[in-house]
Amino acid sequence: MDLPSKTIYFEDSERIVAESVPDNFVSYTLKHQEELPPITWDNWYKEIHWLHTSILLIPPVLLIIGLLRTPLQWNTAMWTVAYGYVPAFGVSAGYHRLWAHRTYKASKTLEYILAVCGAGAVEGSIAWWARGHRAHHRYTDTDLDPYNAHKGFFYSHIGWMLFKPRRRPGPADVSDLRNNPVVKWQHRYYIPLALTVAIVIPTAVAGYGWGDWQGGFVFASLLRMIFVHHSTFCINSVCHWLGDRPYDDKLTPRDSILGVIVTLGEGYHNFHHQFPMDYRNGHKWYHYDPAKWFIWTCEKVGLASNLKTFSDNEVQKAELTVQLKHLRQRQEVLAWPVEQHELPVITWEDYQTQAESRALVCIAGHIHDVSEFVNDHPGGPLLIRRNIGKDATAAFFGGVYDHSNAAHNLLSMKRVAILLGGVPRGVDEKVVPPGQHFKVVRYDELVANSEWSEMS
Ligand SMILES: [Zn+2]
Ligand SMILES: [Zn+2]
Repeated sequence: MDLPSKTIYFEDSERIVAESVPDNFVSYTLKHQEELPPITWDNWYKEIHWLHTSILLIPPVLLIIGLLRTPLQWNTAMWTVAYGYVPAFGVSAGYHRLWAHRTYKASKTLEYILAVCGAGAVEGSIAWWARGHRAHHRYTDTDLDPYNAHKGFFYSHIGWMLFKPRRRPGPADVSDLRNNPVVKWQHRYYIPLALTVAIVIPTAVAGYGWGDWQGGFVFASLLRMIFVHHSTFCINSVCHWLGDRPYDDKLTPRDSILGVIVTLGEGYHNFHHQFPMDYRNGHKWYHYDPAKWFIWTCEKVGLASNLKTFSDNEVQKAELTVQLKHLRQRQEVLAWPVEQHELPVITWEDYQTQAESRALVCIAGHIHDVSEFVNDHPGGPLLIRRNIGKDATAAFFGGVYDHSNAAHNLLSMKRVAILLGGVPRGVDEKVVPPGQHFKVVRYDELVANSEWSEMS
C-alpha cells in the first residue's frame, strides 16, 4: 500500500481514516510520529513531569517525617488496612476491569461508588488511566505502550510518569468512556474527589473516631496511598518481569505469587493479557483475586451483571500449547533414531554379507548394528550372537523375551539400514519406537512430512 509521507494519527480513533492504517501499524507510526529526544544525564532535569513527580515523591518524604514523630495506634492500624481496600477496589474492579476492559456491566450506583473510591488511589482520572491502559494492552512491549516493559523495571514501574512521555501512547478506542456520564463527572471533579477520599476521609475518621488526627493522616492517608500507588505500579513492572508465562510466551506479562500478593490479586498477568475481557484475573476459584470476589458479590446483590469469562476450553488450549512448546524444547535436545527415509535400503543378501564382518541384526525390517552392545545385553551376549545375520523380529517381540519400551527405544538408535521389502508400510507399532509414539510435531513439519510421503 502506498502511504502518504506524513500521516498523522489522532488520539481519537474515529478520526483515523481506515485506509490510512497500514498492516505494520506500529512500526509505521513509530517511524512517522515525532518523538521527544531520549532522557540523558544532560537533559533529565528539563524533562521532569513536575505534577506527577510531586504526587509521587512528596508523600514519601512527608511519610518519613511523619513516621519519626507519630506512634501507631491499634485503631489506626486496623483502619489503615481496611481503608486500603477502598481505593484498591476502585482501581482494580473499577478503573481496570470495568472501564478499561468492560469485563462486566455495573449499575449506576456501583459506577459512582467505584469512581469515587478509585479517585482515592490518586492515580489520575478514569479517562486518563483507562486510555493509557488500553494502549498498554494493544501495543504491549512496543514504544506505543506507555509503560513498555522493554524499557526496564524502573521505567515501567514509575519512570514513565516521572518524566514527560517521549511519545503519545498508541491510539485506542475510548469512545465508550468519552460518552460515559460517570467517567465525565469523575474527570471534572477529580481533584476535590481525590483530596476528599485520599486525605480528608481517612484522617477525619481516625481524628473524630479515636482522636488520632496525626496518625490518620500519616498511616491511613499517606502510607496507604503510597502502598496503593506502588501496588498498582507493580502490575506494570513486577508482573512484566518475574514469573511464568503459562498461557502465551510471546510477550512479557507473567504470572507469579509475589505479583499476586503485592498487587492484591492482579498478578495473574499472563492470563490477563491473554484473556483481558475476563472479569477474573485469577481464573481458578482458589486464586487470590479480591476484585473477582468483589465483582461476583456485586452481581449477587444486583449491582453488577454480564460478568464475562473466557471458555475454559480456550484457556486450557492456550495452556496446552505452551506446555507442548516446552515439551518440544526438551524433545529437541535429545538424540532420536535416524529417520527412515535417510537409511540406505539393502537386500537380504547384502545384509548376510555385511553381517559376517560386524554384528548386524534384523528386527521389524530394520538392520541394527549392535556391535558395541553385544556384551552389555542384559539377557547375555549369546542371545544376540545367535541372531546375527538372521531375522530376530519374533524373538525380540516376545518370542524369546518381551522387551521393555526402553529396550525398543535403544534398539531403534542402532538402525543402520532398511531391508528391501522388509518394512511394513505406515506406522506399524513395531516400526515406530515407543519414545516416538507421542512425538511433538510442528504444524509445518506435518505438512512437509505429508508432502514427502506423497512423493515417495
Ligand atoms: Zn489490563
Ligand atoms: Zn500488562
